[in-house]
Amino acid sequence: MANQNAIRGERPTGLPRASRTYGKGRVCSHPGCETRLSTYNKRDRCWAHAEMRIPRLRGRKPATGSA
Ligand SMILES: [Zn+2]
Repeated sequence: MANQNAIRGERPTGLPRASRTYGKGRVCSHPGCETRLSTYNKRDRCWAHAEMRIPRLRGRKPATGSA
């Protein structure tokens, strides 16, 4: 007789995970940009105007059949 109730992997007393948000209805701080920012986006600008830019790889990999 296995005690199945004890095997359940549920968390005790589910604390509502307080997901950190940064305010609702924020928009990009870039002038003229009205892109709404996600409440989870800690930046004050949209991805397009964020200071951090994704470095683009220069050139392309020569497709030399190496899959
Ligand atoms: Zn923007």
